[in-house]
Amino acid sequence: MMSGAAQSLFAALFPSECRICNAPLANLSRLPVCTECLGRIVPVPDTQCGVCAAVLPPGYPFGPEGAVCGQCRADLPSFDRAVCFGPYSDTLRELIHLLKYRHVRPAANLLGRYVARAARALPFGGRVMVVPVPLHKSKWRERTFNQAELIAWAAMRDLGAQCATAFQVRADVLVRRHATVSQVGMSREQRKNNLRGAFAVSGHADVRGAEILLVDDVLTTGATVSECARVLRIAGADKIWVATAARAVQDSVAAASYSQADSGEGTSPEWNTSEQVGGVPVQAGARGTSI
Ligand SMILES: [Zn+2]
Ligand SMILES: [Zn+2]
Repeated sequence: MMSGAAQSLFAALFPSECRICNAPLANLSRLPVCTECLGRIVPVPDTQCGVCAAVLPPGYPFGPEGAVCGQCRADLPSFDRAVCFGPYSDTLRELIHLLKYRHVRPAANLLGRYVARAARALPFGGRVMVVPVPLHKSKWRERTFNQAELIAWAAMRDLGAQCATAFQVRADVLVRRHATVSQVGMSREQRKNNLRGAFAVSGHADVRGAEILLVDDVLTTGATVSECARVLRIAGADKIWVATAARAVQDSVAAASYSQADSGEGTSPEWNTSEQVGGVPVQAGARGTSI
């Protein structure tokens, strides 16, 4: 049992209510979220695009290589494959918001664990650079941390304990040169052009022949990670994987783009209601596809 002084010190340091549902917290934890809320976080369905992890509608054709969404068939992203743990909705979205907007840093440990769980599906080689998607320095000054970097460190600790691969977090590899311009209302092509030049490989980083795991909190349309992968590829990277804690699906894509204004992945309502993706007619469930 804690002494009265220890109890009050603990109460001062840690909130006693779940930051998501306000229920009293029964257990002492650095993460102020109750077990009921955490229990509601579930993985994305298995019916995903084998390239960009977009959730596909039931009945979507699976070939011998798995399923590939219409958008990836029309225009392959610059990364080899993306994996994501859960849908960007409900408690998982709340957890990401706690980290990014309310600075509840212990949430990064759990989000990193989710990233590691998703990344276990990737065929890693012997050495992997874990590269967080960078923030522009103006955003970094405002937030004082890069959530993708905190998640990357936590993911690396988990992955390193489970795989023979040597993982090294390299937050110095990519730099974000432009502050974000809102992409709401832009077409897919405009969005791609808007991101051109937003990222660069820093001068001292040698990624020639490297195997890279790009890490971010959420994958919305995939435009941001694809642009990161493009510059890494030009700089000589060999394999480029992407792992995120959450994947925007269906209607949450639009919501994600608005709450995600700082990620540069804004999507327009038009994007979400387009009748065709990459020239292939899709059902509602397939609209959370990547660029
Ligand atoms: Zn709760
Ligand atoms: Zn895809």
